Amino acid sequence: MVFRLDILMEDGFSRLCNLSSKQLGLKIRTPTAIVPITDFLVEHQAYQTLAQGENLIFKVTNPDQEIPAELKNHFILCNLDTNYYTSEHLPESYLPKTISENMCYFFSKQCPSTFLNDEFAQEWYKVFFDEIVAEINAHPKVIQDINGFGITLNLNNIKDPQIILSLCIQFLAHPQIYDQLLAVEFRGLFDSKMDYVTNVDFFLKLKPYFPADVLFIASGNIKPYEYSFLIYIGFDLIDFTYLLHAGFSGLYYHHEEEMEWIRKLPSIDDFACSCKYCSKISDIFFEHPSSPPVFDDPPLFSAIAFHNSQMGMIEIARIRKNIQQGSLSTYLERKSQFSLFLLSAVRHLQKQYGTAFLEVQNLNKNTLLPCTSSLSYHNPNVEKFKRTVIRNVEPNPNTKICIFLPCSMVKPYSKSKSHRNFRKTIRNATKRWYKCVSEVIITSPIGLVPRELEEVFPAAHYDISVTGDWDAEELTLTAESIVQWIKKLPFSVILIAFLHGGYQQAFELAMQKLNQHTADKFNFIIVNSNEDLDRTLQETIKRFETQNAFKLDEDFLTLEEQSIKVIADFQFGLGAGKRLIGSSARFLVSRNELYKSIVGNESYGKLQLGRYFRNSGHIQLNYQGGERLKDFTECSVVLNTLDITGTTIFKPGIDHIAEKLCAGDEVVILGPNKQYLGVGSLIANSNTILKMRRGAVVKVRKMNKGD
Ligand SMILES: [Zn+2]
Repeated sequence: MVFRLDILMEDGFSRLCNLSSKQLGLKIRTPTAIVPITDFLVEHQAYQTLAQGENLIFKVTNPDQEIPAELKNHFILCNLDTNYYTSEHLPESYLPKTISENMCYFFSKQCPSTFLNDEFAQEWYKVFFDEIVAEINAHPKVIQDINGFGITLNLNNIKDPQIILSLCIQFLAHPQIYDQLLAVEFRGLFDSKMDYVTNVDFFLKLKPYFPADVLFIASGNIKPYEYSFLIYIGFDLIDFTYLLHAGFSGLYYHHEEEMEWIRKLPSIDDFACSCKYCSKISDIFFEHPSSPPVFDDPPLFSAIAFHNSQMGMIEIARIRKNIQQGSLSTYLERKSQFSLFLLSAVRHLQKQYGTAFLEVQNLNKNTLLPCTSSLSYHNPNVEKFKRTVIRNVEPNPNTKICIFLPCSMVKPYSKSKSHRNFRKTIRNATKRWYKCVSEVIITSPIGLVPRELEEVFPAAHYDISVTGDWDAEELTLTAESIVQWIKKLPFSVILIAFLHGGYQQAFELAMQKLNQHTADKFNFIIVNSNEDLDRTLQETIKRFETQNAFKLDEDFLTLEEQSIKVIADFQFGLGAGKRLIGSSARFLVSRNELYKSIVGNESYGKLQLGRYFRNSGHIQLNYQGGERLKDFTECSVVLNTLDITGTTIFKPGIDHIAEKLCAGDEVVILGPNKQYLGVGSLIANSNTILKMRRGAVVKVRKMNKGD
């Protein structure tokens, strides 16, 4: 098959790709579905309607299957299931006898109905892999003609697929396999819902050994409410064979607000769908109201089957939209309320793969983050924010007083009535020493938000049901964020907490932890009203003034510079902010309310350094802004060529890329001798880029063509 897979964006492990072929004039967006071509299906009128749907991939399980004329110009996956041996005891060839341009051929072998034991399974797989390598070596011409191939791993009969993990890893290490693999199908891996977690482990442990630009396919007994989970962990294609076949057995996929299941419908009462297939079923029912067991009537099963596939398509479209918006993690949290095995699988991901997900979690987004259950405490967006605050952000070095405030429903917090009052009180009480006060906001589940970061995703985007009741886990997690922040402050700083309820409990828990074992103790005061806050602040200021304690840091930053510094440090890493600011910098409010310009002031004039987008809290660098970060290796991409045309940099042009960068991250582009070239943003995560063989990796925004 002649096609290219372009990753368009990634969020966590999930991704949107384009599968296209110039020669065939085809373009498919993934994630999407695979629909089987069989004589049995093709004869239905509804199948032709389905096949006209544009964004589908088809498959045949028999290479001799006749392809209907209207499907001749679609992407088709062809499974060559072979089990036969010739009279010389050699395996029959896996390779196709004739080659079609629009087909991707899969090496696949039907496994015996059950595996007797682990050794047998291992032996069976070893033989399968050896046979593939032997075929590739024996038929280089055919391999060249088919333009890459797929592999099917038949896993439905293995109790614990991890017993073949090392065999698979060895197999993928063959250069002939690694270089030419286009797609991998995990068949039956998710059939057993009892062993879901084990099977997820197998996939996630094996996945890093594949090139990133292969198509990951899930097939077998998979129901639409699992799709979001599978796509979340990195699958691109879902095989609809099960969904269609279930329909032909009279199993109806049902989707309601609170429930999703697939089963036989006992009566028309349960039937609540308005799709065109269902309206056909209900029409027939209402024509013959005297014969109620409609759903056991085989002639109607095709309508059920196509209803099922329609529901599957709707679900995939919804998932695609959620990836685009950056909200798949919260969508999955809602979905996992439908089923216990999904719920435990999501918990398992959070527990076992937390760090791996965080490394690829992109925070450059502007989407709502509804926190609806305790799963949200460990949502990767939430965790990434918390860790980045602790790792990258330092309190203002001039802080003498740190004020802890509760969050508000209205975001950003300073727009709320309560925060407007807090700030008025603080300014009035501290007057010229206002610059020595830091404000941090306590909240759950994102922990602690320094005032400077209140517009940054997800601080201005999360939403919780405010009941005032905090559970034990929330208290512990929030207290931990407070502890980590206070540890960054000197003991001489006075902590003033204007908190109540759970907020106050979390703060007190943090103070207990902090002051438990040290000789030096932090001094904290809890206040309960604006008057109380005002009085406490005035008294503290007076005391500091008599002690002559206000001494400003030599590199004193203005309040605006402090904001720019904290936001840039959060985004690029500690130290980036000061480099960006240079001698001095400020925000310039633009006519467009969406962003503020960051303008640098030097003796030789003004510099446009970048734009700060208020709806995501993200800085987009200008050419001069990028230049200031050119030695800041945490956000750089080094090219091996100066030969760049257009606005895209492709994988072969990359020499080095900073670790742990995410899709959407702002990067500084350097030439082969580390010379500064310009700025852009990453299309994929740095982990992914390392494992890509080809494809676009950086979108260039401002570029100097080099010398
Ligand atoms: Zn329907």
